[in-house]
Amino acid sequence: MTTDHGYPAVRMYIAGEWCQGGTGTAAPIVNPATEEVIGEVPLATAADLDRALTAAEEGFRVWRETPVARRTAILHAAAGLIAERAAEIGRVMTLEQGKPLAESTGEARRTAGTLRWHADDARRAYGRIIPSAPGTVLSVRREPIGPVAAFVPWNFPVGGPNRKISSALSAGCSIVIKGSEETPATAAALVQCYADAGLPAGVLNLVFGEPAEVSAHLIASPVTRLVAFTGSVPVGKLLAAEAGKVMKPSLMELGGHAPVIVCTDADPVQAARKAAQAKFANAGQVCTSPSRFLVHESLVEDFTAEFVKAAEAVVVGDGRAEGTTMGPLANERRLKAMERLTADAVARGGKVLTGGERLDRAGYFFAPTVLTDIPADAELLHEEPFGPLAPIVPFADLDEALAVANGLPFGLAAYGFTRSAATAERLCGELEAGILSINHCGGSVHEAPSGGVKESGYGREGGPEALDAYLVTKRVSHLLA
Ligand code: NAD
Repeated sequence: MTTDHGYPAVRMYIAGEWCQGGTGTAAPIVNPATEEVIGEVPLATAADLDRALTAAEEGFRVWRETPVARRTAILHAAAGLIAERAAEIGRVMTLEQGKPLAESTGEARRTAGTLRWHADDARRAYGRIIPSAPGTVLSVRREPIGPVAAFVPWNFPVGGPNRKISSALSAGCSIVIKGSEETPATAAALVQCYADAGLPAGVLNLVFGEPAEVSAHLIASPVTRLVAFTGSVPVGKLLAAEAGKVMKPSLMELGGHAPVIVCTDADPVQAARKAAQAKFANAGQVCTSPSRFLVHESLVEDFTAEFVKAAEAVVVGDGRAEGTTMGPLANERRLKAMERLTADAVARGGKVLTGGERLDRAGYFFAPTVLTDIPADAELLHEEPFGPLAPIVPFADLDEALAVANGLPFGLAAYGFTRSAATAERLCGELEAGILSINHCGGSVHEAPSGGVKESGYGREGGPEALDAYLVTKRVSHLLA
């Protein structure tokens, strides 16, 4: 069923059935490009969450006993359905999140690829036999940790939930996932692909609700064995503390404030083009989005001119419109944050070279913005903008740039531009980040891990490391009778 906006009715998925919350309470869904209410999301009661937990407990028993070849076949079938439905998933995603259709459908297609990678990796969760005494078999086995409680945000409405779901299911775990209440229909469309692929009931459960209530309930339950979260640093700290109280491991994919260091020997025009493209993707609402541009003083004029040109070439509009290259911000909170951070930078003497304000129309549109002359204590240089703001800061020597880059408590992504192999190696060694790109702004790939250091969190998603958090290592010493 869809509304007259073409937005599907949203349900939760518990124990293999689509359902409303027990009390029938719901929250509105807003299209960020029009500010119109396009639907509503049901909110779970404690009883709904208990049903999901019971289902996940039973689902885990069934799934861990399913032969790995069968599990892999179901996951590949789900990936096939995601790829087949990419255009429809993308359409719904753009309605509720705002990003341009090409980004939405591209995200859905990449998600199918991620799932295929994990499905195959499930077959390689090897243990090992260790040489021991005659008559003794000493082995190390890797087993699924158990039911997972996962919490995901709104910036990658299909890729985000799928990272948690596909890792958990590939490892043999079941999962209760709280999707974002702002982008629920995309998460539901993803879950439908798994259901249609033949996933047994209870293995995957999707809920929505009041975030703090849902997370407190799911984390405290003895059924939950792992807490997996993607989102902001403050919420990550809160959930990690709750998990710590009941001694549960957690996987934390949190925010950052990615520095881009453009060294004296780099090509400033190429660096600006690549950095600007990465900056304005998804309207800057990406945890690895470049967000502090540290440019050698000899290049800063050329870099800035090219960056401003690139910012002004961005076509801001409804993600459904032909030619749009940047949609609105996903919600009003981000719009207000852009206004606050810009006003603070300007009040402290910063200059806006282009953009700097919301667009004069309905929708949460904020212009691609480039700022200079920002003092070091401006909020924008300390708080992740998570939006289309690009502060450019000149530096005189690399030691100084590295000190600024590493000077924040975060360490998710970092970028460097240089033609010198020696300088590149120095950046690789000294930048405090879990994800580093040199001479481009590389995005995440299925084959390699993503994750942070410092307050950006712990654990990795993607690559062979993705299953680590979802598996426990068991030492077995077997004295042959
Ligand atoms: P927020 O801190 O209010 O929420 C972040 C996410 O956590 C949302 O999905 C929210 O529903 C969820 N959340 C909040 N409280 C929760 C709780 N007690 N239990 C479980 N989940 C909870 O921020 P926001 O306004 O949605 O986003 C703003 C900031 O969040 C950004 O500035 C950015 O730093 C961060 N963020 C990071 C990512 C990422 O990919 N790492 C994604 C989205 C947002």
